[in-house]
Amino acid sequence: MALPDEQVRLQVEQDDAIAQALGAPERVAILRALVNAAEPLSLNTLAVSIGLDATTIAAHLSALGDVGAVSRSGDADDTYRLASTPLARMILGMLASPSAEDADPRSNRGILEALLDQLPNGVAFYDTSGVLIRVNPAGERITRRPPIPGETQEIRLSRYEMRRPDGTPMPLDESPSGRALQGEVVSRMECIIDGQHGRDTWLRCSSAPLRDERGAIQGAVVIYDDITDERLLTGEEAHQRALAAAMIEHTFSSMAVFDVSDAFRCVRHNDNFLHLMDSRFEARGSVVGVPLDELFEGDSLAQVREIYERVRATGEPYVNYEFSVEVPPESRRWFRIRLTPVRDESGTIIGLLMVVFEITELVTARETSRRHANELSAIIEAMPEAVMLAERNGHVVLSNSAAMRILGHVVTDFPARDSGATFHSYSSEGRRLDPKDLPLNRALQGETVVSQELVYQRNDGTRIDLLTSAAPVDLDDTGQITAAVAIFQDISRIKELERQRDDFLGIAAHELRTPLATVLATLQAFLRRIQKNPGEQAIAPDALVSGLERMYRQSQRLNKLVSDLLDATRIRTGKLIYELEPCDLVQVVSDAVAGQVAANPDRAITLTLPDESVMVMGDGFRLSQVVDNLVSNALKYSQADMPVTVSLKVEGQRAKLRVADKGVGIPPENIKQLFTRFYRVPGIDVQSGAGVGLGLGLHITGSVIERHGGRIKVRSTPGKGSTFLVSLPLLEDTGQPET
Ligand code: ADP
Repeated sequence: MALPDEQVRLQVEQDDAIAQALGAPERVAILRALVNAAEPLSLNTLAVSIGLDATTIAAHLSALGDVGAVSRSGDADDTYRLASTPLARMILGMLASPSAEDADPRSNRGILEALLDQLPNGVAFYDTSGVLIRVNPAGERITRRPPIPGETQEIRLSRYEMRRPDGTPMPLDESPSGRALQGEVVSRMECIIDGQHGRDTWLRCSSAPLRDERGAIQGAVVIYDDITDERLLTGEEAHQRALAAAMIEHTFSSMAVFDVSDAFRCVRHNDNFLHLMDSRFEARGSVVGVPLDELFEGDSLAQVREIYERVRATGEPYVNYEFSVEVPPESRRWFRIRLTPVRDESGTIIGLLMVVFEITELVTARETSRRHANELSAIIEAMPEAVMLAERNGHVVLSNSAAMRILGHVVTDFPARDSGATFHSYSSEGRRLDPKDLPLNRALQGETVVSQELVYQRNDGTRIDLLTSAAPVDLDDTGQITAAVAIFQDISRIKELERQRDDFLGIAAHELRTPLATVLATLQAFLRRIQKNPGEQAIAPDALVSGLERMYRQSQRLNKLVSDLLDATRIRTGKLIYELEPCDLVQVVSDAVAGQVAANPDRAITLTLPDESVMVMGDGFRLSQVVDNLVSNALKYSQADMPVTVSLKVEGQRAKLRVADKGVGIPPENIKQLFTRFYRVPGIDVQSGAGVGLGLGLHITGSVIERHGGRIKVRSTPGKGSTFLVSLPLLEDTGQPET
């Protein structure tokens, strides 16, 4: 619709004027104040209520006067009112009436109205003097009294008979609305009002002051719930509730209830639960309302959420006695957790109860002690000594594999004091040991035994020498001896060496003294004769020759003994020098055998040699020592009338030397040790000739052969004789192992 020019101009001018009048927020405030006030306002009142200085307000007032929005109420004073121009009326309409927006149900006001109607909580608004302006339907229902508009706070309080929880009357300034009007924000304060039918109604109220843009209190709002059912529990219920609350608060576990929304928010928890959480929550003092994904993070969140969802879906409680959670960067925490659904009367799951107990210390302590136990048993297991730990009753609770090896069987029970039946032991002198003298038994009596030697008889009858130590143990830290530990060391080898050393010293002394005695006796006889017949030929030439020959032979024996001793020492220290060069074994063997034939003219020694020379890379002197030793042993350990046969031949790439006798022979179990130093087969005596031997000949022989890349084998039958077979690589094939 087209407007006449005049009207269009007026409209535009008015729009301009409105824009100018409303151009600044201060002007809108001035106009609002004038609209709301029933009578004209002074410049100062306006300045104070808007919170600006009078000069600024005066400037805005004059601008508003210019466009005809305000006018002075009288010429003389500084009092203003809204002008009575069309523009002023228009502005008045805009500021006073609810806008089109306000009338829309989707607007803030519309939403607020709907909310107030639907809220289950009571909501009441008061003006600055405490007069009830409005109460929502729930509020009316809860107080069971229709509001009396304009009713003062004082009258209302007495009408409701408002009391404190202890029953005493509630003074005005202590009531929720009273406190809010004094500027306080009140949270969950409880009070009683006299309900109808002689029944008290318990209210839980929260309240807050209502302030305008400048912060001035313009009223108060009180929100309240009826908690009568909760408060007026029967004695038994209250008792149960108190017990449950005490249990929750004082249990060692952490407890929390979560809702079953997808966020799984915490609805309630005890203090322990807070301590369990991140310190940021501890500082907050509560995690009520906090969703699961804020309580946990990363992998653990996924883990926990999965459990919550499963329990919510299945209704089956979840229990885990060792639930572990990774704590970045590198540690872990362990928990015993139980998540149980909480159901209402109809069986619907309304929450999830989480009970948690942290067991990190327990788990770490267990891991540490398991680790220590592993380390300890590894050490014990690796020990060459036998270790046994026996309890008071003699039951063996710990033993290592060395114990099994040394004692010959698994010892499960160590004889207590009164029985020695299973642990046959003897003193070093061979006397049967009284069980009470056994180291472990002595330790069980409180004694510490250090290095006791004893002889132990295995179940198979063999005896070994043991060096044992034992000590009492207080396993339970009670100050009582509850067990004893014993360590056994097999010292049979050391004992054997000691015996060998003693034998050796005896034999060596005897072996050295015998030839020496002959030499001394011969020399003494010669000397006496010369002294008796000075200047004459005191000794017949025959006697002189045979005496010298005797002395020479005995000196040779002495020399051989001393050389063998030296050689054995050199072998041990790796200092036996070999001069290797091509040498003919035929020559070596025939020379050595010839020497033996000359020294033992009465013995039958047969020698078989190949026609051609047998060349090996070797030390001629040492190789002849080998032949000497083998032939002299063959002679020594067989009767004087028994033959000794020596043969040399070539087989394939090897030279084979064979020395055989028909003597005492060697028991098979002793053959292996023949080549060890100072070893002499027990019970075998020299059958002919002189000299017991130091047990060095075969040791040196074995070492020389080994050094030449050869092998030595022994075949022997006790009572029938022995054959020693030596195989050496031929010169072309030096160093090749025997096939
Ligand atoms: P010994 O000087 O004692 O003979 P050996 O080292 O030559 O030392 O020999 C070691 C032991 O081997 C001897 O004591 C002996 O008991 C045994 N033995 C060596 N050769 C023979 C053999 N031909 N017949 C029987 N026993 C032998």
